[in-house]
Amino acid sequence: MDRKPVDIADPEPGVALTLATERAQSIQDLKYNLAFTIPANPAEPIDGRAVLKFAMKDVTRQLVLDFTPGAAYLKSVRAGGKPSKFRVVQDHIIIPKEEVVAGDNTIEIDFRTGDAALNRNPEFMYTLFVPARARTAFPCFDQPNLKGRFTLDLNVPVDWNAVANGEEMLRETTGGNLHLRYEETQPIPTYLFAFAAGKFQIETAERNGRMYRMFHRETDAAKVARNRNSVFDLHASSLDWLEKYTGVPYRFGKFDFVLIPSFQFGGMEHPGSIFYNASGLLLDESATENQILNRASVIAHETSHMWFGDLVTMQWFNDVWMKEVFANFMAAKIVNPAFPKLNHDLRFLTEHYPSAYAVDRTEGTHPIRQDLANLAEAGSLYGAIIYEKAPIVMRQLERILGTEKLQDGLQLYLKRFEFANATWQDLIKILDERTDLDLSAWSRAWVEEAGRPAVQTVVEGQTIAFIQTDPRWTQEIQVTFGALTRTNAVSTELRAKRSEMKIPPDMSNPDFVLPTGGGLAYGDFTLDEKSRTFLLAHLPELKDALTRGAAWITLWEEVLDRRVQPMGFLDLALGSLPSEDTEQNIQLVLGYVDDVFWSLLNQAQRQEIAPRLEQVLKRGLSRATSSSTKATYFNAFRSTVTTPDGISFLERVWRRQEKIPGLTLSEPDEAGMALDLAVRSVPAAATILEEQRTRFKNPDRKDRFEFVIPALSDRLETRDAWFDSLKDVRNRRREPWVLEGLRYLHHPLRAASSEKHIRPALDLLVEIQRTGDIFFPTRWMSATLGGHNTAGAAKTVKDFLGEQTNYPLRLRRVILQESDILFRAAR
Ligand SMILES: [Zn+2]
Repeated sequence: MDRKPVDIADPEPGVALTLATERAQSIQDLKYNLAFTIPANPAEPIDGRAVLKFAMKDVTRQLVLDFTPGAAYLKSVRAGGKPSKFRVVQDHIIIPKEEVVAGDNTIEIDFRTGDAALNRNPEFMYTLFVPARARTAFPCFDQPNLKGRFTLDLNVPVDWNAVANGEEMLRETTGGNLHLRYEETQPIPTYLFAFAAGKFQIETAERNGRMYRMFHRETDAAKVARNRNSVFDLHASSLDWLEKYTGVPYRFGKFDFVLIPSFQFGGMEHPGSIFYNASGLLLDESATENQILNRASVIAHETSHMWFGDLVTMQWFNDVWMKEVFANFMAAKIVNPAFPKLNHDLRFLTEHYPSAYAVDRTEGTHPIRQDLANLAEAGSLYGAIIYEKAPIVMRQLERILGTEKLQDGLQLYLKRFEFANATWQDLIKILDERTDLDLSAWSRAWVEEAGRPAVQTVVEGQTIAFIQTDPRWTQEIQVTFGALTRTNAVSTELRAKRSEMKIPPDMSNPDFVLPTGGGLAYGDFTLDEKSRTFLLAHLPELKDALTRGAAWITLWEEVLDRRVQPMGFLDLALGSLPSEDTEQNIQLVLGYVDDVFWSLLNQAQRQEIAPRLEQVLKRGLSRATSSSTKATYFNAFRSTVTTPDGISFLERVWRRQEKIPGLTLSEPDEAGMALDLAVRSVPAAATILEEQRTRFKNPDRKDRFEFVIPALSDRLETRDAWFDSLKDVRNRRREPWVLEGLRYLHHPLRAASSEKHIRPALDLLVEIQRTGDIFFPTRWMSATLGGHNTAGAAKTVKDFLGEQTNYPLRLRRVILQESDILFRAAR
């Protein structure tokens, strides 16, 4: 056997915590001078030049830069003005220690960019470097705790525009190109460095003396006009609120944002240049109340990141949840007063609890705070536990501390660590000084442990007892109990294996006890038999909308735990809709209806219930008074319609032969309907798809539609070939398109023929994580498994997990999370 000597000092692939820690201790005063020449044709290479200037304390080691494209992409490397004797290992450029000096260093590198994180399209491109993908494009120190000041030069086609973190300070036309230069940024980490270039239009507005610019590619001028003022107002009011709450002014100079078609996330908080998914901000006329609210929330969320994440950044991506939870937490505070008619406690409940439970009830769940040895795995940290469970935990923290002490602590935290980095412990230390309770113990249970407490209600005479498996999960809950005519809500604390509360004498012998009724309690609650029976008969008659929402969420857990039959639940849900007048609850119930119908019923049960289901939805559609509630009902109808009558109604609406009074259908709505009709194999499917193609005014949407069409062809070979094409990474670049196609490929009506694609999809998952964006592995699995509910499909997943003994833990969790309903359905 031939073994080459191994240089033990060579860094491992990715960005290891050990490497990052060494660099953070040694490197200071970092500046990046970057230049890129971007041709219009996405197939032509982008040339780049990077000049890194920094001071170094430790010169006993070689200098390691991160750059994944490899040696073939490097043209020249100079250190201290001289050609370097650099080496390239996987994911890194290594500069010998002889070429760096204590004090100031300059490294100059000419290179060709890798395109993996550059999202290149024929008319535009944009960077998306979170969590550690800057290194796929240019040489850098790709870690959150090495902040640098960036200057940027861009050469782009003359008919393009561009936007970056810094203010534009030079614009000139040279040699057929537009040359743009951007002012030096404040210290920011690589994951927040960003630019977008291409054929963008710009809308400008002034609010409170500050200029805002919106870059977009929307071709529908009326749509832009209808939305622009709201979008600017929402940014300005968020910024204003945050400056007051934090006591810290906005520190990143100018404020631009870019609306990107089919952007991978709702938004990304690049300071000075926030990127958004265009469809989330430019709403259709038929937008639901939730979409309007979600728009306000995503704007407030990204704006909050200017303080939480951008000004003070996590030390390492294991604390990525902190910036997300604060952004969500602030967003709720910002948005709620602007929607005074809404029930915000109900909204918090319906937005967070079902999604958090969807992961936390599974075997694939994980703590809010997770270990992370290498940034190559950072993407898999993101998910519902960070986005939906952590805000619930943060609300607990605020209740423990009180709003003023929390605000006071956060102000100190922002001032102490501004333009620097901090850990969760840094914050807990600041907050712990402000309370007598043991915050560290609370944090260990709720932040460092996986899962949720299991709590059983036992009613014994005039005493209600809550039996908890693990008493470390302390929490305050609000218990609702009583009868239809009168209910009572009482706060109590769960701090032991058995926690008791007395029923007031005037409420003796209640018809039901709902420990989650006040919308606070988090866990897997088993109701007592009497309460369960009562709620299954009378839930819709409860007066309080929050109590109804909490009861639905609790009963859904009971369905999944097999304490309530799916058909009984569906029956109750359909019976409740005619009298339910709160849009949040309508959305919640319709979501459960969809889940039960497609995941938990068999073919015969679906056929049995379908006529009634469609009748209830159509009645809801005609009875709804707001266009948003109409849209909610119509979307539910589109998703679940199966009877010939229902399908022919949908087809008439798509053909514009039938109008739904009060509901305007947009281009994406019509495109979705065309796909929904095709997946139902209507006789005219081919001509419907063909005509839909000609209806498009927006070229980006047309491209997306054409990409998806083969996934729901009525020819099996076409569908199979479409799936096989995804094995080539180039066909997976537009992830939202891929996911839409996958969802139709694996639609429950096509599940029998697509089951064979589950195994290959699992086999691809490691590569999906390596080549895709952070949510892609989870969404890939969700789109693959969501339509299946058979024992065969469950066995495919279980066999795969059984075979893969050395499988990456985080991806195993992703699979377990996304197959949970399948496993339960197939049980
Ligand atoms: Zn965020």
